[in-house]
Amino acid sequence: MKYDMKSMKAEEFINDEEILATVAYAQEHKDDIELIDNIIEKAKLRKGLSHREASVLLACDNEEKIKEIYDLAEQIKKDFYGNRIVLFAPLYLSNYCVNGCLYCPYHMKNKHIPRKKLSQEEVAKEVIALQDMGHKRLAIEAGEDPVNNPIEYILECINTIYSIKHKNGAIRRVNVNIAATTVENYRKLRDAGIGTYILFQETYHKKNYEILHPTGPKHDYDYHTEAMDRAMEGGIDDVGIGVLFGLDNYQYEFAGLLMHAEHLEAVHGVGPHTISVPRVKKADDIDPNEFDNSLSDEMFCKIAACIRIAVPYTGMIISTRETPQVREKIIRLGVSQISGGSRTSVGGYAEEERPHDTEQFDVSDNRTLDEVVNWLMRAGYIPSFCTACYREGRTGDRFMSLCKSGQIQNCCHPNALMTLKEFLIDYATEDTRKLGEEMIEKEIGNIPKEKVREIVRERLVKIEQGDRDFRF
Ligand code: SAM
Repeated sequence: MKYDMKSMKAEEFINDEEILATVAYAQEHKDDIELIDNIIEKAKLRKGLSHREASVLLACDNEEKIKEIYDLAEQIKKDFYGNRIVLFAPLYLSNYCVNGCLYCPYHMKNKHIPRKKLSQEEVAKEVIALQDMGHKRLAIEAGEDPVNNPIEYILECINTIYSIKHKNGAIRRVNVNIAATTVENYRKLRDAGIGTYILFQETYHKKNYEILHPTGPKHDYDYHTEAMDRAMEGGIDDVGIGVLFGLDNYQYEFAGLLMHAEHLEAVHGVGPHTISVPRVKKADDIDPNEFDNSLSDEMFCKIAACIRIAVPYTGMIISTRETPQVREKIIRLGVSQISGGSRTSVGGYAEEERPHDTEQFDVSDNRTLDEVVNWLMRAGYIPSFCTACYREGRTGDRFMSLCKSGQIQNCCHPNALMTLKEFLIDYATEDTRKLGEEMIEKEIGNIPKEKVREIVRERLVKIEQGDRDFRF
């Protein structure tokens, strides 16, 4: 198999030989300061880096250069994403699964977890609970099971989610994290009005992938790896990729992840909308120590910084798998979206107490959404509940051109402030509201166009009077 970024065959665009050569090249050049300086200079142009270049930076252990990499990641994040952090929550629909993934407690052989699938009434209850927290954006999650969770079930749930309007609440964007499927099914998801289609590769290492997925449809590495091409063929132009860090060595995964992004850009003219960086966590019958590729928090943050400068236009997501301390550090280095107030069990939001029986993994950040919002503002970030882009048709390359045009500050920034205002009025505690009002007042001044500032001020008053859902 020969490496070919434009090939539609998994083993050619994610090519084992090319990854091994990349990792070896990065090791060989990790002390080559001249080369590292050149790569950092190239990264400063904000046009991204190749997987080879980025891998050299990841391998570099010169403290001074690492600091330069971190500073640049922080600066690029500020330039493209400002100080906004978009919030979302996962919604688990069903833990029925026919796969045998060795790291996931939903694997078919696990007989001691109860299996649950939400009815439409239960979906509505979950959505109301999520709306009452203040969420506007969800990522729906389900195991793979053609009998219990067929595409019709997923579509019905999406429909239910969008239809619930409780008090001032509404879910305005549903992202979907379900198993690899057919072009026809992706088309149905597109027609149902989903935001991003998310699918984690888990590991790019084919042999290890096959061992980790011994049974079930997910065993097919090629079908899984080529899923994003089918999704794009089905008309979904916002796709989210990711690796489950800890399963294989991080250098291999890092190169694979960037090669995947390069492939999507080369073939479809638009790279991934988001990159997620989950790490394997303890779960029902899963001990993460069984996978001997765990990485330190320090290396985890370095990976995030290198992703940030390698693909400057791609959003980065971090979940509640991570502790508040790691989240704070990694947000600074490039993450643009985080989950908050999450429950990873089927039907978890409608329960008073956090249920553990059907949890997919242990959550390390147990704070409420209000606490997360409060914490973000104290750290200098604007919590954003914006869902405007895809509702305004700014997906795929149209979103990328917004990023590249520098108009984000006249568009995303005001949207963040207006959706924050809605949260403050409808859901926040007294302390959060006070902090938020101060933040909005201060941040209005950072909208470049006078006219936009004026419109925002008018709309903020209208939000106070009861209107909702303004957007640019
Ligand atoms: N079933 C779908 C699939 O196979 O792609 C997607 C949904 S699954 C509920 C979401 C993701 O959770 C998986 O892709 C995997 O990366 C992650 N996951 C599974 N087990 C995990 C664990 N023990 N710790 C952390 N993340 C885990």
